[in-house]
Amino acid sequence: MKITAIEAIPIAIPYRHNGPVTGFGGALWTTANYLILRVETDEGLTGYGEAFGYNVIPVTKTFIERTLAPLAIGRDATDIAGLMEDLKKTLHIFGRGGVTQYALSGLDIALWDLAGKRAGQPVWKLAGGHARGQVPVYASLMRLTEPDIVAASCTQALERGYREIKLHEKTVEAVAAARRTVGDGVELMLDVNCAWDVGTAVEMAQGLAPHRLKWLEEPVWPPEDLDGLVRTRRAAPVPIATGENTANAWAFKPLAACEGIDYLQPSVTKVGGITEFLRVGMLAELNGRTLAPHSPYSGPGFLATLHMTAVFGGIGAIERLYIDLDAPVFGEVGLPRPDGTIAIPDGPGLGADPDPDILRRYRLDL
Ligand SMILES: [Mg+2]
Repeated sequence: MKITAIEAIPIAIPYRHNGPVTGFGGALWTTANYLILRVETDEGLTGYGEAFGYNVIPVTKTFIERTLAPLAIGRDATDIAGLMEDLKKTLHIFGRGGVTQYALSGLDIALWDLAGKRAGQPVWKLAGGHARGQVPVYASLMRLTEPDIVAASCTQALERGYREIKLHEKTVEAVAAARRTVGDGVELMLDVNCAWDVGTAVEMAQGLAPHRLKWLEEPVWPPEDLDGLVRTRRAAPVPIATGENTANAWAFKPLAACEGIDYLQPSVTKVGGITEFLRVGMLAELNGRTLAPHSPYSGPGFLATLHMTAVFGGIGAIERLYIDLDAPVFGEVGLPRPDGTIAIPDGPGLGADPDPDILRRYRLDL
């Protein structure tokens, strides 16, 4: 089964959340922007993948079209490990992370989708998973800043069935408001996206201790400062989560061995797709770390993450960005249910293709 075409499809879907328009990575997120890959084959099967999106989409799209697609078209889509290894080796001089790896991740996910469709099996089954059926979901709130809005959003998330909530706040006051609102029976996590130097992280971890975080995520800049994570962890103590900005399993090796890290957070659209996610998952298990995937996106990358939760039973809950999209990408598939879980798709491949109407209606003209 040969690859005949690779198309990078950027989409921008309007959304609502409870706070002012905010963003990450140097730009406001006025819409939720995703980069979807469509891979065609000479057997008539079509696979879908997702490269990490948002602000970097124009660059990744160009990289896919000008650099990745010419290397991959004509190659055997069923030889996933061989093709991906060859592409990674060929392209490594352009970086083992960032845009290069986002593009490779999108292709890898699409190849697994194709493999599942060809075999008539869901990806989780091809990857050696067990019939888990469903997984709890946690609400990953955008940065809301005002403690009152944080509290109101927590109340709303609980009403919608969520039993775990992650905040992207930077003050003890905002976390305290959330803890007061949710009480003791709900897990709270805090993600500060590498905001602090080590001294500040230590102080903040101590200040946050009364609010009993399940984990503190990326507390230290730069993310490679593992000693800083160890010191932060000891200060409270507080469990530490990191890894969403680490690409490929080799780069995860020191993280998995680091005693300052409790949760490893590979992102399937950044780490190198399903192939690398599976390796990182095994690394986590063998080193006694808990997998907590990073998945604040709504395209095929989110479905791929759901499949990974069936392969690694240690994944407690899956991240879902707590925003209301104007339209879901897959209809009902992949949406949270009132009991705070999401069904793991059981159909061939990823279990659903993006709604063609969504791809048409929300397509970005780049
Ligand atoms: Mg994060």
